[in-house]
Amino acid sequence: MKKLYFLVGSQDLYGEEALENVKKQTEEMVAFLNEAMQDLLAVELLPAVIDSAQCIQNMQKANVDADCVGVITWMHTFSPAKMWIKGLQKLQKPLLHFHTQAGEKLPYDAIDMDFMNLNQSAHGDREYAFILARMHIAHATVSGYYRHERVIRELRRFAEVALAVDYSRNLNVATFGNNMRQVAVTDGDRVESQIQYGWEVNYYGIGELVERMEDVTADEIDAKIREYADAYEMPEKTPAATEAIREQAKMEVALDHFLEAECIGAFTDNFQDLYQLKQLPGLATQHLMARGIGFGPEGDYKTSAFSAVLMKMAERREGGTGFIEDYTYDLTEGEELELAAHMLEVSPSFAASTPKVEVHPLDIGDKEAPARLVFDGIQGDGIQVTMSDMGDHFRIVCADIELVAQPQEMPHLPVARIMYRHKPNFSEGTAAWLEAGGGHHSVVSTALSREDIVLFARLTRTELVTIGDDGVKTFDFRH
Ligand code: MN
Repeated sequence: MKKLYFLVGSQDLYGEEALENVKKQTEEMVAFLNEAMQDLLAVELLPAVIDSAQCIQNMQKANVDADCVGVITWMHTFSPAKMWIKGLQKLQKPLLHFHTQAGEKLPYDAIDMDFMNLNQSAHGDREYAFILARMHIAHATVSGYYRHERVIRELRRFAEVALAVDYSRNLNVATFGNNMRQVAVTDGDRVESQIQYGWEVNYYGIGELVERMEDVTADEIDAKIREYADAYEMPEKTPAATEAIREQAKMEVALDHFLEAECIGAFTDNFQDLYQLKQLPGLATQHLMARGIGFGPEGDYKTSAFSAVLMKMAERREGGTGFIEDYTYDLTEGEELELAAHMLEVSPSFAASTPKVEVHPLDIGDKEAPARLVFDGIQGDGIQVTMSDMGDHFRIVCADIELVAQPQEMPHLPVARIMYRHKPNFSEGTAAWLEAGGGHHSVVSTALSREDIVLFARLTRTELVTIGDDGVKTFDFRH
């Protein structure tokens, strides 16, 4: 199980008894947090930091432990911050500064000098926060009494984002083919992506997949089709439909084998490079996305990797998360709506009801008619997030949106789609996205909120532009 290490700061100025109290109170706090987050990860207490050597030892332990996804720090008493400098210099995991207290209320009748000296995180956390600011250490801050629900919610958010950062740092991405010819925003600096987010992005010829498809057995295809039939509404069994669906099942089984053999969590393809494939992967890709595999079309490695990371962040929450493409608008004045979809590959996590498997010709790429899932989209508040390479840094753009029911049936549109309203309104929301350099591929989520993205940007030192009812804000977390 993944874990967060809990580091408590104190000092030996107040004697052994005070340190015993620090230990006792912190153990109680950690036991409570451990229980409050037990479905996410474990919280484990390390020896109290009362000097620089202990701090270094704790931070190094966090670094080398592959199960450790982050560190929580709390200055129980006054822990002079020069003791933290060398340890913080070494830390390579997400950091949370937890500004809390062992007790909720002040014991007005009983409070004396000993109590005040023991319970002085208001004092000690300021000393520690100064050194975090002075050293430009990327971190999150949560303030409040540790048993309050709001505080637990914020700690859980940190845990989920830290788990996603950990996943990101271990993510391998396969690109079948390269970036779509002439397209700019989907391209990017793969070396820098690896340095900043950990993504190992490697190219594979589509022939790798074709070869693996030749090894797929009829039994494996049958088993995959049973998975489809369990989850989706299947079409009438005409020979053409059956053949098209079997072809997608075969591709997905081959992809399963490939992703597992190469330890890959996200992939891209490109309709311009499908040489020996009979169809563009549609149903196969959609079903993989539903299983948490990241996907970006047209060689878009950033969206593929980012969608995998955000799906990981959202995995324990209600709602849909996945890749989408901005497509077309209803510009009725004052009621503007966007229709977002793709040629085929829309994640079934956006389905308002059971998706239907359908087979239709594809207008692009000159291949056989592919099977795909078709459905109307879910409703609710959500976010649309994208990542652009600005040349010397990455920028995340995060817009608040409201997913809505499509106002009318679209009987001739043979792909899944979602519809949404921009915030604060169409003109300002879309203009801000365009001016921020946000691309046409993004991740939409009704499970995540802006706060999750702010935290991810903060911990990965990424510039962030947010768009919503509070206008447009830019956060430069790079320095
Ligand atoms: Mn596209």
